Amino acid sequence: MLRAALRGRHAALGATRAASAALGAKRNYSAKLACLDLEGVLIPEVWVNLAERVGLDSLKRTTRDEPDYNKLMRYRLDIMEKEGLTLKDIQAAIDTMEPLPGAPEMVAWLRERFQVIILSDTFYEFGMPFMKKLGEPTLFCHKLEVEPATQKITDFHMRLQDPKRKCVNAFRLLNFKTIATGDSYNDTTMLGAADAGILFDASDNVIAEFPQFPAVFGYDALKEEFLKADDRLGGWVKA
Ligand SMILES: [Mg+2]
Repeated sequence: MLRAALRGRHAALGATRAASAALGAKRNYSAKLACLDLEGVLIPEVWVNLAERVGLDSLKRTTRDEPDYNKLMRYRLDIMEKEGLTLKDIQAAIDTMEPLPGAPEMVAWLRERFQVIILSDTFYEFGMPFMKKLGEPTLFCHKLEVEPATQKITDFHMRLQDPKRKCVNAFRLLNFKTIATGDSYNDTTMLGAADAGILFDASDNVIAEFPQFPAVFGYDALKEEFLKADDRLGGWVKA
């Protein structure tokens, strides 16, 4: 009885395989994503710009200096509170800022060859004004909590902890291969999780601590490194 049932099952499986072969069953196609950090790669550091605008050197600390992002943000918000600075002051600084020279062209170049997603530890309140200037790429980042009457930033909400790495891992589950680039400590877990990770215009200390990633300077070198990575991953992009 059992044997007969198993024979029936094997026969059914065989028929399914034969039907798949007849239909020309195909392997899944793995597409490629370019994942980019924002500040230091496509736009200047917002907080450094604000620090210069309001004359506060203490606000110049960035992810290049402090690897713990929560600690860094708490430090920044404490200074803002002490100095009476609000979201309006940051937005005034942002209004005067442009993407780094060549950044919109870099994004356009990538979008012709890959799907592009910007993975940033900035906040939508800071990042969105730049998206228009960069050709409206997709931005995944965090959210600020702001008191409407005073525009005081009262808190910040991360969408996830270690979001860049988690995004790249999630993209892998969706059968995307990723080539990622960033300039700071908060990019290194993303670069490690990606199929190819590239340090871009990184500081000496980040380059020295993460020698496993190729380090390039300038967009021409970055384009070359993307094409090299693409070739290594079974490239379908041509220069
Ligand atoms: Mg950065």
